[in-house]
Amino acid sequence: MPEHQQDFSKHQSLFQTHIETASPSESSHLWLKEMDITGHDLPYVREVLQQSFEDWRKETGALPFSQQSEWAVADHEGAYACGETAVHELLAAHCPDLLKRCLASHETVCGDIGPSGRYGFAGRTVCLVPILSRNGQLLVAVLACVLPKDGSSGGTDAVHATALHYRSCFFRRYEYIFVSDVMKVQKNAEREASRRSILFQIMQRMHDQIDVDTVITEVLDSIAILYPSIELSLMMSQDHEHHNPRVRPLVFHPWGEDICVRAFMDGRLTVQEGMEGRDEAEIAIPFGGKQGIYGVFHLKMTRELKEDLDLQLITMMIDTAGNAFENAKLYEQSNLLIHELRLINELTQRLNQSLQLADIYKLATGELLNIFNADYCCFLQLNEERNMLEVMSCNEPSLSRDLFSKDYGFGGLVYEKKEPIILSDYHLNTKVSSKLMEVTGSQSLIATPLSVNGKVIGAVLLTHRSPHFFSYDNYRLLQTLASHIGLSVSNALLHAELRRMANRDMLTDMYARHYLDEAIQDSQAKDFCGSLIVVDIDQFKQVNDTYGHQKGDKILKQVSEILKTSIRPVDIPARWGGEELAVYLPQLGLHQAMKVAETIRTRVARETNPGVTVSSGIAEWCILDKHISVDSLFYRADMALYRAKNSGRNQIQIEDMHE
Ligand code: GH3
Ligand code: MG
Ligand code: MG
Repeated sequence: MPEHQQDFSKHQSLFQTHIETASPSESSHLWLKEMDITGHDLPYVREVLQQSFEDWRKETGALPFSQQSEWAVADHEGAYACGETAVHELLAAHCPDLLKRCLASHETVCGDIGPSGRYGFAGRTVCLVPILSRNGQLLVAVLACVLPKDGSSGGTDAVHATALHYRSCFFRRYEYIFVSDVMKVQKNAEREASRRSILFQIMQRMHDQIDVDTVITEVLDSIAILYPSIELSLMMSQDHEHHNPRVRPLVFHPWGEDICVRAFMDGRLTVQEGMEGRDEAEIAIPFGGKQGIYGVFHLKMTRELKEDLDLQLITMMIDTAGNAFENAKLYEQSNLLIHELRLINELTQRLNQSLQLADIYKLATGELLNIFNADYCCFLQLNEERNMLEVMSCNEPSLSRDLFSKDYGFGGLVYEKKEPIILSDYHLNTKVSSKLMEVTGSQSLIATPLSVNGKVIGAVLLTHRSPHFFSYDNYRLLQTLASHIGLSVSNALLHAELRRMANRDMLTDMYARHYLDEAIQDSQAKDFCGSLIVVDIDQFKQVNDTYGHQKGDKILKQVSEILKTSIRPVDIPARWGGEELAVYLPQLGLHQAMKVAETIRTRVARETNPGVTVSSGIAEWCILDKHISVDSLFYRADMALYRAKNSGRNQIQIEDMHE
C-alpha cells in the first residue's frame, strides 16, 4: 500500500469526525479552526505529543524558566509520553496520587516533593497541568513540571502559561496531520484528474484518427511524454510498415522466452525484473482490440521507476489505442476493398473490350504497371507445342516472345509450384536466377500464377528496380487481379478455339472453304502473287465401293495429312468439298506450286494404304493481272484439274494461259 494511504487510514477517525461535523456550506478553514480531538484519537496521539514537545522545547529553550525547570509529559492514562524520564519516575514513585488527581479532576495539581526526593528534586515543587481538548471536556495529556528551587520563576502561573504554549504546539501538530492528509488527498485527486484528462485527450485524439499509423504514433508519444525515461517500443506481429523507429516486428524465436512473445501469447500484461545486479525492469503490454492482438508494447525502465509507474493509466491508454487501431484498420481495410473492387471493375471492363489474346495481354500489362507503379510487367503462357513458357507480353522489348523452360526463373517457379511469390531483394536471393530481373536490373518482385478454369496456364510477374518496393497488400491484390485477367484470357482462348472450329473441317482438320476464300482475299490485298492447287482423289467412288465409306474416310485423312505436311507453315490447306482438297500458297508462282503439287502426288501414290492417286490443277494470280479475284482463281484451277482427269489422272495440270 502506498505510504500516503497508510497515513490516511491511521487518521481516518480524526478525519471522519470533522467530515461529520462540518456542513458543506462552511468554508474549509472554519472546520480547521473548530476541529477538536476526540476519545477515538487518544490512542494515536503519543507521537503528536512527542513532536509538539520538541516544538515547544525549541521555541522556549532559551527562557530561564524553561531551562531551570524539569519537564515531562504523561499521556491521557498517566503513562510516560516524553520529556525527562526522571520527572515521570518521580511522579510514579513519590506522588502517584498527584497524577491520579490531575487525571481525574482535569485540574492543575501541585505538591511539594519533600526532603527525600531523588534526582536533586528534594525540596522542590511539582506541578501537574492537564492538557485539555479544545472544548475542555477531554484530557489529552498531563504536563508535569518540577519548579526551580528558589521559587523565583513565577510559580504555577508560569507553568500554566507554559502548558498553554505546549497545548497550542500540540494542536498545531495535530492540525498539521489533517492538513497534510487533506493535501495528500488533494494531490491524489489532482493526479487522478490529470490522469483522466490525459486519458480523455488521448481517447479523443485517437478516435478522431482513421489512420493506423497516426494512432500508433499518438500512443507512443503520449507514453513518452508521461515517462520520458522509459525505453519504449512497439513490436507488431503482422506485416506492418511503419516509419516510426520505435515500431519493430515481433519476432517469434523458436528459442528462449521473450517477454513480448509471452505477453502476446497469453494476451496479458507481463512484468520481468532484470537480471540480478542490474537495475532494470521490463513490462510487456499486449496491444489489441476486440478482434485480436496486433502487437506488444515493450517498456524498459529502472526498478525505481517501475514502482512509481501508473500502470493502470498506461494500460488504459494502450487499450484505448488498441481499439482505435482496430477501428482504423477496419476502415483502411474497407477502403482498400472498395479500391480493389474499383480496380477490378475497371480492369475487367477494359479487358473485356477485346477478345484477342494478344490485346488482352498487352492491355493487362499496361494496367498492372499503372496500378502497382511497377517498373516491369511480364506475362508468361505455356506454349503447348514447344512445351515451354512463352513471353506473351512484356514492356521490356528484349524479352518479348522469348521462350523459357518450364522450370526456369521466377515464372517457372510460380508456374510449377502454382503459388504466388513475393521477393523484396533479388540480390539476397541465391536460389533462382531470372533473366527478367537481370535484364531489367530489378530487385523487387511479385508474381502469381495465371489460371484458366482452375488450370495454371502461365504466370504474371511484376518487378521494380528498388528493393522492398511491393507491400503485402500489393502481393494480395495481384492475385485477385490475376484471377480476373485469367478470366479474360480464358474468354479469348475460348473465342479463338470457337473461331478455329468454325474455320476447320472436322474430318480432315483442315480449313473450311470459306476460310480459304478469305485467306486468298487477304493475300490478294497485300501480296505480290500466289498459287492455288486443287487436289482430287482419283476414282474415289470406287474406293468407297470397294472398302466401304469408313475406309474411304481414313484414306481421305491420310491424303489430307500428306498434303498438310508437304507445305510451308504459311500455306493454307483446306477441304474444298467432298474428296476435293486445296492448298493456297501465298507469294509462290506456278513453277514453285508445281513442285509442291508433285511432292503431294508422289507421296500420295507411295504412302496411302489402300493406295490411291490424286490429280491436281494449279492456277496462279499476279499483281500485274488485269483481273484478280478468288472466283477466277478457283475456276482456272478447276479447269486445269478437269484436264488432268481427262488426261488419265494421277497427274498435275497447270492452268491454260491462253484460256
Ligand atoms: P474421279 O474424281 O477420278 O473422276 O472419280 P471419282 O470417283 O472420285 O469421282 P467424283 O470425284 O465425281 O466422286 C466423288 C466421290 O467421292 C463421291 C463420294 O462417294 C466420295 N466422297 C465424297 N466425299 C466423301 C467423304 O467425305 N467420304 C467418303 N468416304 N467418300 C466421299
Ligand atoms: Mg475424285
Ligand atoms: Mg471429286
